[in-house]
Amino acid sequence: MQFVFLGAPGVGKGTQADKVAAQYGILKISTGDLLREAVRNKTTLGLEAKECMDQGKLVPDSVVIGLVRDKLADPSYAKGFILDGFPRTVPQAEELGQVLNQRGLRLDRVINFQVSRADIVQRLSGRRSCPKCQATYHVDFAPSKQGSLCDRCGESLVQRSDDQREAIEMRLKVYDEQTAPLISFYEKKNMLSHLDGAGAVETVYQDLTKVLAIYKTA
Ligand code: AMP
Repeated sequence: MQFVFLGAPGVGKGTQADKVAAQYGILKISTGDLLREAVRNKTTLGLEAKECMDQGKLVPDSVVIGLVRDKLADPSYAKGFILDGFPRTVPQAEELGQVLNQRGLRLDRVINFQVSRADIVQRLSGRRSCPKCQATYHVDFAPSKQGSLCDRCGESLVQRSDDQREAIEMRLKVYDEQTAPLISFYEKKNMLSHLDGAGAVETVYQDLTKVLAIYKTA
């Protein structure tokens, strides 16, 4: 089972990828999470990526392709994986095809999550996260019971620098210019399914598992 979850920032693909990964016993590869981890650990790669990320711009293709290539070399990914937030450009998608080919793998399906722009902005601007345990909240839809502290570990919650308004606008512009072309890229290969991501997490998940069901038994 090899899936790509595609969509603008804030459509909920990461949340859905976590649920599917847990249910199917496969792994999620989120390039955003890998990059944030590198930033937290102040690695050379993290220091290079931080500026692009803070501004809402894409990190260079060569950097993220290297991260994904390293992950896929790990035998624990042979059982299946969900790519969340990768590929984000046509060259990344082409490179992914080559990496999978080399490993005798192919993608089963690319799911394109669709959510209106107004909803995306509301979701991203209200998002808060815990810098210690990485739990995520939303000021309106999923607030912490302890206000500005994390329910899980008590740490003060923060807003991701790229969830601030200017960075959100940049991320959506970058999505339109560089990532949206992947819709027709995968459509032409007959690999794409569109999914309405506007509803509640559980509703979207039910719809998603219907699309993925045939691969579970494959
Ligand atoms: P995300 O958590 O997926 O929204 O990613 C956060 C940030 O990490 C993005 O705004 C980019 O700066 C960077 N990033 C994540 N994935 C990629 C990718 N596939 N290509 C380039 N930059 C990426």
